[in-house]
Amino acid sequence: MQTESIKAFGTESPIADLKEIAIARRSVMPTDVAIDILYCGVCHSDLHTARNDWGGSEYPVVPGHEIVGRVINIGSQVTKVKVGDLVGVGCMVDSCRTCESCQQDLEQYCLTGHTGTYNDPDPHLGTQTYGGYSEKVVVDEHFVLRVPENLDPAAVAPLLCAGITTWSPLKHWNVKEGSKVAVIGLGGLGHMAIKLAKGLGASVTLFSRTPEKSGDAKVLGADEVIISTDKAQMKSVRGKFDLIIDTVPYVHDVNPYISTLAISGTLVLVGYLGGLEPVLNTVPMILGRKSVSASVIGGIAETQEMLDFCSEHGIVSDIEMIKMQDINEAYERMLKSDVKYRFVIDMASLKG
Ligand code: NAP
Ligand code: ZN
Repeated sequence: MQTESIKAFGTESPIADLKEIAIARRSVMPTDVAIDILYCGVCHSDLHTARNDWGGSEYPVVPGHEIVGRVINIGSQVTKVKVGDLVGVGCMVDSCRTCESCQQDLEQYCLTGHTGTYNDPDPHLGTQTYGGYSEKVVVDEHFVLRVPENLDPAAVAPLLCAGITTWSPLKHWNVKEGSKVAVIGLGGLGHMAIKLAKGLGASVTLFSRTPEKSGDAKVLGADEVIISTDKAQMKSVRGKFDLIIDTVPYVHDVNPYISTLAISGTLVLVGYLGGLEPVLNTVPMILGRKSVSASVIGGIAETQEMLDFCSEHGIVSDIEMIKMQDINEAYERMLKSDVKYRFVIDMASLKG
């Protein structure tokens, strides 16, 4: 297979900084789309993978799964997009397309496992997949999203992961006018959850550890902010929420939030991967038919639905644009929750 060597930013080990490296991209196959990357959002998952927080990172790691760019070439059978179109790529670049999940537009739950945009085996090149911290990407058209031209393309990039990851549970649990939704953590996912839940007509509460974020949360659309470390404030919202979206990336006590669910309410974990500590107390769950669930990103059709909803409602991410060369500092700031509310890389800085 023919390949092209392009510039990317990646890391060779969990403790090394990210730096410029060369990677190979395949030439377009009949159903492929080649994309010149304009912007790439910076997700906390990029940091987890670069630093092997979850285990399983194969180096070099080239993160980035919130990609917006322009189509520069298409394969002979491509019908979805044409050269010059503004498009996006999120967290998946492949799946089996035949299993029960894929047939139901749930490629994220492909029964043989979807292929992540980075750090998954690349069936074409035999390497790992390399993500959007790069000049170009080549992706099967099925996994390419149409990006509405009426939105700021840089601020759309985070919708491809932070947006769909919060949209999918909002839709699955049928959030609508009058629903009571809470969001835990005001970062990339959290700020999109607020905007999207609000867009769907819900009343929205933010749980945060950080009182300084209260003002921003209200501007983003939150009706109420509860400081999660304040017991009296926590008590004031007991039994209130139909759905809580928990975006916290590290182990934390989920129990105090269960008490704030309404009867039959659900807390859906989208952040932390691993064993919960302290253990989950089933008493309030049993006495209130409450659920704890979890969710990963969203399907391609659902991602397009979310982008179209955002186009209609003028919803984009609040971003801070950075240069590719600033990524290591951006990761340190992300660890301190010092992001308002998503870093987006201007990829012109890599192409230089
Ligand atoms: P982020 O921008 O860093 O935001 C996380 C927020 O969580 C922080 O702003 C902070 O908000 C809160 N927080 C951080 N550390 C905490 C701690 N130790 N205890 C309590 N709260 C804490 O991260 P993100 O990009 O939104 O990603 C959030 C998580 O979702 C990551 O673990 C990421 O890997 C995961 N993720 C999952 C999916 C999926 O499909 N399920 C998709 C994308 C990302 P406050 O200051 O307001 O408390
Ligand atoms: Zn992500």
